[in-house]
Amino acid sequence: MQRPLLDHPAFSPCFTPEHRDLRERAGRYFEAPRLREWVAAPGGHLVKSQWQELGRLGFLGISLPRELGGQGLGLLGALILSEATSELGDLGLSLGMHCQTEITGHWLATAHGEGLRDRYLPEMIAGRLVGCACDTEPGGQMESTAVRDGGELVVNARKLYVVNGANADLCFVTLKLDGEMSTLLVEKERPGVRVLKVFDKLGTRAIDSAMIDFAEVRVPAANLALKRGVRQLMHWNKVMTVARFLMCADACFLHGRLLKRILEYGGQRIVDGRSLASWPINRLALARAAADQELMRAGLIDRFEHLERRRNAVAEVAALKWFCVDRTTRFAALCAEMQGGAGYMWDSEFLNAHAQILGLKMAGGSLTTMKAIAGQALAYREELEALS
Ligand SMILES: Cc1cc2nc3c(=O)[nH]c(=O)nc-3n(C[C@H](O)[C@H](O)[C@H](O)COP(=O)(O)OP(=O)(O)OC[C@H]3O[C@@H](n4cnc5c(N)ncnc54)[C@H](O)[C@@H]3O)c2cc1C
Repeated sequence: MQRPLLDHPAFSPCFTPEHRDLRERAGRYFEAPRLREWVAAPGGHLVKSQWQELGRLGFLGISLPRELGGQGLGLLGALILSEATSELGDLGLSLGMHCQTEITGHWLATAHGEGLRDRYLPEMIAGRLVGCACDTEPGGQMESTAVRDGGELVVNARKLYVVNGANADLCFVTLKLDGEMSTLLVEKERPGVRVLKVFDKLGTRAIDSAMIDFAEVRVPAANLALKRGVRQLMHWNKVMTVARFLMCADACFLHGRLLKRILEYGGQRIVDGRSLASWPINRLALARAAADQELMRAGLIDRFEHLERRRNAVAEVAALKWFCVDRTTRFAALCAEMQGGAGYMWDSEFLNAHAQILGLKMAGGSLTTMKAIAGQALAYREELEALS
């Protein structure tokens, strides 16, 4: 049996007693039966009080620096949470927690002024305030705007598929201001903000996804991120790269689990006198999946080292997200097929895994976008190297 990814020697130098403690308590807390409590709540996803419980138990703000109220456990801390939540059987919680800490929490900590940061970040870490990233537009291109009016900005925007959008108190809205891309923090309680719809998703159901409308919402200009235009875009990509890296890990954990379960299933299920897994066509597919699992792990270790050394890893992580998510999606479909008729039934864990991983194809940017980011950035770097 393969040892857990985080037991690989590459991670050992980063482990502190606090990391070990987190791994132990997260492993105990995020057990599959807990999911039933969450999805049984009205709406079928985490509600506000459960976010507060996550905060009380110290599962939010794990990767944020201590001086800002976080636990200072960095990327390894976030990976430990992904490993633990992968046991739940629903990738929603992991996605929601990346959104709360690695996307909106980090964005607030690094892209906004101190006043706003000090007012809201401690509340986010406590789970009393939930953040959401409002980026995707119904029309496929950026139509959201803010215009200046004295010391205020007036926002008109509509955003889709926003993770944590229904629970959120703080909306980080990407929009155009003075002809430049900007991000504005809009408090949900402001007049003119409305949740138009909470989506009924195929997978990742433990967390809500919503459509939010902002109609003539007045916001103080102090809520604007400090970085605009190209700097906003570059910083956004940096923040999203960490979140995408964690999605790679989510996919890899799911893939590893599928491999283990299908080997068990295929070893026991006898078809035409021999085990399903031992038929040559399946042996080939399973061997490929085992090789993919190794490649995913190697990619994660490599990108982890890149990110820990603060190197630019936007292209490398985008390429890895494409690889991990694409291969896991295909493998989940194959596993469901190997399960025969049972793989078509709602209670099939393989079918459920397929529903989960399909969400990661779009979350954090589509796989097509990942290929474009990776291709363009790597080609550009090659050109630069040729010039030097
Ligand atoms: C689980 C989940 C979580 C999400 N979380 C958030 C969130 O928190 N906040 C947020 O703002 N959004 C979120 N999204 C939205 C997500 O970022 C978008 O769905 C994704 O970026 C694709 O955009 P779209 O849905 O508008 O599809 P479209 O832009 O219409 O794209 C449709 C398809 O066409 C492909 N495509 C695009 N351009 C090209 C091209 N030039 N050539 C060929 N193919 C192309 C895309 O890759 C995609 O596969 C989430 C989505 C999901 C499913």
